[in-house]
Amino acid sequence: MTEDSRGDGGGGAVPSGSDPIPPFPDCDETIERLYVYLDGELTEDRRAAIQRHLDLCGPCVDAFGFEAELRRVIANRCRDHVPESLVERVAAALSRERDLQGN
Ligand SMILES: [Zn+2]
Repeated sequence: MTEDSRGDGGGGAVPSGSDPIPPFPDCDETIERLYVYLDGELTEDRRAAIQRHLDLCGPCVDAFGFEAELRRVIANRCRDHVPESLVERVAAALSRERDLQGN
C-alpha cells in the first residue's frame, strides 16, 4: 500500500478536518431540531441526518422518545390535556441531555 495521504502538493491551502458539513448534526443540534422533526417540517435531508444521529446516539434516542411520546399524547387529546408530569419528564430529559453534552 502506498501512503499518499499527503497528496502531491498544491500549496497546502486546504486544511483537512474542517468539513463545513458534518456527516450528522451533533447532539445539541439534534435536540434542537427534534421539535421541528416531529412537526414534519424538516427537509428530507435533515430528517435523514437526524435519523442517522439517533441511530448512533443513545442519549438522543431517549430524549427523542420522550418528545415523540409527548406529541402522541397531544395529538390523541387534541391538545386538551397534557399531563404535566410528562411535560416535566421531557423537559428534564432535554436539559439533562444538554448538561451531559455541555460538560
Ligand atoms: Zn446525540
